[in-house]
Amino acid sequence: MRWSSYFLPTSKEVPAEASIASHQLMLRAGLVAPTAAGIYSWLPFGLRALLKISNIVSEEQEAIGANQVLMSTVQPADLWIASGRYDAYGEEMLRFKDRHEHELLYGPTNEEQIADIFRRFVKSYKQLPQNLFQIQWKFRDEIRPRFGVMRGREFLMKDGYSFDLNRAGAEKTYWEVFNAYIRTFRRMGLTPIPVRADSGAIGGNMSHEFQILAPAGESLLYYDAVWDDPANASDEDLSAAYAVAEEKHDPSSCPVPPERLRQSRGIEVGHVFYFGDKYTKSMGVSVMGQDGSPIYPEMGSYGIGISRLVGAIIEASHDEKGIIWPEPVAPFYVGIVNLQEEDARCTEVSATLYKSLHDMGVDVLYDDRLERAGEKLADMDLIGLPWQILVGPQKLQEGIVELKNRRTGHVQPYTPENLVHLFQKS
Ligand code: ATP
Ligand code: MG
Repeated sequence: MRWSSYFLPTSKEVPAEASIASHQLMLRAGLVAPTAAGIYSWLPFGLRALLKISNIVSEEQEAIGANQVLMSTVQPADLWIASGRYDAYGEEMLRFKDRHEHELLYGPTNEEQIADIFRRFVKSYKQLPQNLFQIQWKFRDEIRPRFGVMRGREFLMKDGYSFDLNRAGAEKTYWEVFNAYIRTFRRMGLTPIPVRADSGAIGGNMSHEFQILAPAGESLLYYDAVWDDPANASDEDLSAAYAVAEEKHDPSSCPVPPERLRQSRGIEVGHVFYFGDKYTKSMGVSVMGQDGSPIYPEMGSYGIGISRLVGAIIEASHDEKGIIWPEPVAPFYVGIVNLQEEDARCTEVSATLYKSLHDMGVDVLYDDRLERAGEKLADMDLIGLPWQILVGPQKLQEGIVELKNRRTGHVQPYTPENLVHLFQKS
């Protein structure tokens, strides 16, 4: 992509409406445009990150055998009246009527709708288990939308729903999704902390929230110090490690000795839930069992905040200059900065590098704008691509361009040819 023809509006002004770093940076680096309180439009650069995150999520869901669907955003109220949640959901639900006075709503979540789809097509125990997921916009009329996309009213969520024949099957599915979530967040360069969110009662519901540590998080967590250095702990140690939200933390029964107990704020990026036959019973969703009697499938539901993750990743990975994208979710892998657009040699080398990398399939953004070098460097740091190639007249006299790592700031000289080889290998 050439920046001169790319829609990427950047700004030096710190927007007054944004109190936390990720919100400020998302506006300044042209990821989103605000539409109304808690409602955003995604601009090309932000959309790239959103799609990269969505792809990682889909791949990890498909790897555990879940099937992707796309349910409508608008749902009939009848489904929710049947489950008993229509009145219970309260003012967070956006409700409206069509021209025939039919009551509709914009889905805040989709348990009822998926149960309805399931019952239309799944009739026998032989067709179980089923695990379906989608990535779709939700609307919740949050009382306090804030922190940009992190607590929006309209937001993109991956929501998955599983149906099993019995509790043992449902628990197996629960842990499969749980592990897929750990892999999903790690692939994005995050350290997810699974926090038990249920009462822990045997035979009851089961639930974990996946939190990432960040001062701007809305939850207060207590956790074992192993989470501060998870790279040096085994997966077994981590899966047994203590982590709970403030409400669940009881100092008198905490298994972690005080010197190992940590406290931090966290951002909830995912949530897994096992709730048994709550919806299948209330909505009369059953399949025929082996002996001909009806079975009400055991359900779980599993959410990931896709649009929230864009903010959360930036919150976890930025510095005073701007965003620092982890490679797997970066909108582009590398940016080329032509420091002197009027210099024929700079422009020729930049354009050749751009073409070579582009043809190799590298996601590359070429800043070919007629701006001052200082401005272009500041913009490139602001938008935070993992790698920068700096092409300037002085170094070029020695036949050299520079490769800069955005995270470490480390700069290494290369000839343009060697640089292309380097990218070919990686
Ligand atoms: P929260 O406690 O943050 O309101 P929740 O428990 O209501 O979350 P779920 O219903 O479990 O959230 O939704 C699944 C995921 O969707 C959450 O883990 C979160 O990442 C994301 N999410 C929920 N509400 C919002 C929102 N208002 N804006 C952006 N993402 C959200
Ligand atoms: Mg909520």
